[in-house]
Amino acid sequence: MRLISDPAVYLVTRPNIDWDMVAAFLEDEGLPHVPDSIRAGRDESAAVVEISARLCYMSFGKGRRDIGKFIHNLLSKGDGSVFEHVNYGFVFTGVSRSLTHELVRHRAGFAYSQLSQRFVSESDSPFVLPPALSMASGREGGDADKARELLEEALGKASTAYEDLVSALDKVLSEDLFEQKTDRRKAIRQAARSVLPNATETKIFVTANVRAWRHFIEMRGAAYADWEIRRLALRVLDILKREAPLLFGDFEVAELPDGTRTAASKYPKV
Ligand SMILES: Cc1cc2nc3c(=O)[nH]c(=O)nc-3n(C[C@H](O)[C@H](O)[C@H](O)COP(=O)(O)OP(=O)(O)OC[C@H]3O[C@@H](n4cnc5c(N)ncnc54)[C@H](O)[C@@H]3O)c2cc1C
Repeated sequence: MRLISDPAVYLVTRPNIDWDMVAAFLEDEGLPHVPDSIRAGRDESAAVVEISARLCYMSFGKGRRDIGKFIHNLLSKGDGSVFEHVNYGFVFTGVSRSLTHELVRHRAGFAYSQLSQRFVSESDSPFVLPPALSMASGREGGDADKARELLEEALGKASTAYEDLVSALDKVLSEDLFEQKTDRRKAIRQAARSVLPNATETKIFVTANVRAWRHFIEMRGAAYADWEIRRLALRVLDILKREAPLLFGDFEVAELPDGTRTAASKYPKV
């Protein structure tokens, strides 16, 4: 049985500006050229926010010269809608079904595509080790080994039950009931998955805009969030702070006595 103790986080899409079109728009409106109009310059994440915000007041080339102050003014006033123009897409693997069940509760500004347990066989699926078990191992000696043993035993039984159910259903579900073989396989797997545990590994493609990612990190990076999703929220924040320092730089990361990290924003719920 394969146990995964860390998720893999891949940033796969990021904002992209057609600068020729921005330049054409500025010229048509008789406005100063880039970068006189767009103080963020080639920093695409901040420039998208700036272009959309300045369009509201047609303030290109006017107002705050410092792009950091400009963005922080938007955040502090809660002018959140302009942050919705900037999207980032991640692929997460090595996460549990319980994590994704919590993740998909985030609706506004999110798009999801998740591995289908009806199409894809879960026979060889690994499981995600709950962070509490990784943290305990090596610290409490025998007790930690016992906890791990209990988990592995339960997961092993669930795996076997899944395999047995697939075989049993394969014998009893008549081929005449289905137009296509794929439909029969789906019917078998959709029934057999009922015995799979929350720890079953899954893969998910998640795209969200900056306003939505900020809210997600705020909710799931808080100390009271589940450890697995909190760890993921912090990994996402690490990446987005590098990608878009002006849009995520106000988040402060702290370490709890247990060694896990939390994140809190200076400007909550923008
Ligand atoms: C620590 C923790 C414990 C939790 N425990 C539970 C639990 O026990 N049971 C449970 O069911 N859930 C639980 N949740 C999930 C929680 O209730 C939310 O469903 C989840 O965090 C998504 O938050 P959201 O609705 O703010 O986010 P999003 O869906 O991303 O929405 C963002 C914001 O948009 C606005 N919005 C979105 N949709 C609507 C709408 N339809 N109408 C009006 N405004 C809208 C709201 O202001 C919302 O905050 C928990 C969450 C956390 C962080």
